[in-house]
Amino acid sequence: MVKVRFAPSPTGYLHVGGARTALFNWLYARHHCGTFVLRIEDTDKERSTQASIEQIVAAMSWLGLDWDEYHCQTERSDLHLQAAQGLIDRGLAYEHDGAWWFRVPVDGEMVVRDLLRGDVTFKHEQLKDFVIRRSDGSFVYNFVVVVDDADMGITHVIRGDDHLINTPRQILLYEALGRPLPLFAHLPMILGTDRARLSKRHGVTSVLEYRRRGFLPETMVNFLARLGWSHGDQEIFTREELIGLFDLDSVGSSAAIFDEAKLKWLNQCHLKTADPDRILALVKPFVLDGREVTEQMWRDAGEERLVLGLSLLRDRCATLADLAEVMTILFPVRLAHEKEIRLAEGERELITAVVDTLAGLALFTPDAVESALREALAKYGAKLKDVAKNIRMATTGRGVGPGLFDLLSVVGRDLVIARLKSLI
Ligand code: GLU
Repeated sequence: MVKVRFAPSPTGYLHVGGARTALFNWLYARHHCGTFVLRIEDTDKERSTQASIEQIVAAMSWLGLDWDEYHCQTERSDLHLQAAQGLIDRGLAYEHDGAWWFRVPVDGEMVVRDLLRGDVTFKHEQLKDFVIRRSDGSFVYNFVVVVDDADMGITHVIRGDDHLINTPRQILLYEALGRPLPLFAHLPMILGTDRARLSKRHGVTSVLEYRRRGFLPETMVNFLARLGWSHGDQEIFTREELIGLFDLDSVGSSAAIFDEAKLKWLNQCHLKTADPDRILALVKPFVLDGREVTEQMWRDAGEERLVLGLSLLRDRCATLADLAEVMTILFPVRLAHEKEIRLAEGERELITAVVDTLAGLALFTPDAVESALREALAKYGAKLKDVAKNIRMATTGRGVGPGLFDLLSVVGRDLVIARLKSLI
C-alpha cells in the first residue's frame, strides 16, 4: 500500500518547486489509491512561522491537494528523543559539546538506489559524523525525517533532487534504527528559461501569487505536472486524467523548464473550457478590484448577461485579470479607447440613424441587431463596413474582438446607445 508525504519546512511561502513536489506525491498517492500525508517540518523553531503554515495550507487547498493525514513535527518530539536515546544507548551516537552526534562508519560506501536516476554511490568518508540533536535539545532535519518516515510507514520518498545529498545520511540512520528503507525518487530540478535554477529572479514563485494574478488552480496543477513528467506530447490535462496517467516511470531525469509564456497559454486553454458560472464567480473580485465597477453595477448587470458576456469575451484572455479587463465593457463605466475615434465625412449621420434604429428595437439579440443595422444603413446607401470599426471602438474600446453583433447584443441596448451617442 503506497504511503507518501509532502514535508515542507514552514519558513516561507509555498513556492513552485515545493508545489511540484507536493503535487507529484499527491498524484502518486491518488493514482495508486494510497495515502498522502502532509507533514509540517517545523523543528527549526527560529525560522518556522505560523503564518507560513497557513500559507502552505492555503496554497495546497487552492490547488486541491487534499491530505489524508496531517502532522506537525514538533508535536512528535517524544518519539524523536526516544529514537535518539536508543542510538546513544547502543553506542551508535555519542554526545559531544552538548550535541548528539551520529557515528558514521569510517570505511565503505553506500549506494543510493534512486527510482529516477539509478544508483548513486557515496563514500562513507565523504559523510563524516553529523549532529542529530543540537545542544539546545532540538532535532536536526536528517534525523527526524527518518524517524518520522519510518514511524509513519512511508513507502516512497519523492522530493526535490536538492535532497539527494542528504539521502546517504538518512539511509545510515534507517539502518541504525533497524527500519526498512523506503524507495527514493529525487525529482529533477526546475530551471528558468535562461537555464538557471528557478528563483525569485524569474518573477513570481509563490503559488498563491499566481492565484492573485488570475491563474486557475487547474492550470497550475496541469503546468506543475509537466515540470518533469510527461505523457507523449499531450500538454492539456484535467486533474482526473493526471490521476489516471501519473506514475514515476514517466518522470524524466533531466531538468524541467519553467516557462511563463506556456503557463499563460495553458491558462487561456483552461479558461476557455471551464464552466462559465464558476468563472463568473472567480472573475468577480478581479472586476470589482481597482476598476470603476461597483457591486451595484454587478448586480444590475444580471448573472445571465454576465455569463453570456464572459463566454463571448474569454477566448483571447490569458488570465482572470485580462478577462476582468475586457468585461468592463458590460458595465456603465467610461471606456478607455485603444485608439482615438475619428468620424469620416457623413459618418455622424449614419451613426445617428443606427442609434435611432437600435433604440426602437424590442429584442436586442444578435440577429435583431444585425438586421436593424443593415436596414438603417441601406437607407443611406451605406455598408456595414463603413461604420463597423468606429461602432466597435465606441462600444468596446477596442479595434478587434468577437463578432460585432454578438458583442453589441451582450453589451446591451442602453450601454450601446449611450456610447454611440457620446460618439456623435
Ligand atoms: N523539510 C524538508 C524540506 O522542506 C523536507 C525534505 C524531504 O522531503 O525529506 O525541504
